[in-house]
Amino acid sequence: MRKKIVAGNWKMNKLADEAVALASELVNIANDEVKGDVKVILCPPAIYLTTLKKYIETSPNFALAAQNCSDKASGAFTGEISAAMLQSIGIEYVLIGHSERRQYFAESNELLAAKVNIALENGISPIFCCGESLDQRQNEDYIGFVKNQISESLFHLSAEQLQKVVIAYEPIWAIGTGLTASAEQAQEMHAALRAHLAGKYGSEVAEEISILYGGSVTAASADELFASPDIDGGLVGGASLKSREFINIIKAR
Ligand code: PEP
Repeated sequence: MRKKIVAGNWKMNKLADEAVALASELVNIANDEVKGDVKVILCPPAIYLTTLKKYIETSPNFALAAQNCSDKASGAFTGEISAAMLQSIGIEYVLIGHSERRQYFAESNELLAAKVNIALENGISPIFCCGESLDQRQNEDYIGFVKNQISESLFHLSAEQLQKVVIAYEPIWAIGTGLTASAEQAQEMHAALRAHLAGKYGSEVAEEISILYGGSVTAASADELFASPDIDGGLVGGASLKSREFINIIKAR
């Protein structure tokens, strides 16, 4: 049975006291209201990870992710954070290949493959993000484009390694725009990606991989999206910054 996962990508938002307030509020409300088996992964700015660890430890449902890591192991790479450093403070997940990293930091499928490798080598599960632009959706084989992102960054992994990866399908045209993919559009892509994984690793492995949807998810859209058979939860940006809204997304079925 694959896991339902709801991850909150805070991006470059929240000052230190606000980050603590949001994380502790989420844990407290979730402890009262969230029933059932759902993993909640908070992805705050890296500078807050150590502090927030203390706040989330009171809930077995919560975990932390970094928003990025270096593809290098250590050394003269000013400003970078290594996967080993994340492991050393007990971080379990890392976002790899968010479209903002691909767009503003020119991260290629090849570089992302290296980041996936180093995360796994350090016992950290990558949340691998993929997705097409509006132009690609309108003018190209958009499913083929996203399948290729997965082939180029993940298909060198063994089945055992792949099972530690979470995939997040995030159409770029839906991120931060208020435009959510319809449940049908998202399900079409998720089913195609699962079939793509099955083609390489077999259906037993593909059935175990959690594929999250991301792109302007709100409490209003989460129920229908998460009810789709191949959508195993969400990666949420803007709506994860408001505790009540995010809790309602976590509770969506
Ligand atoms: C994201 O940053 O991954 C995201 C999906 O953002 P938003 O929910 O704001 O569209």
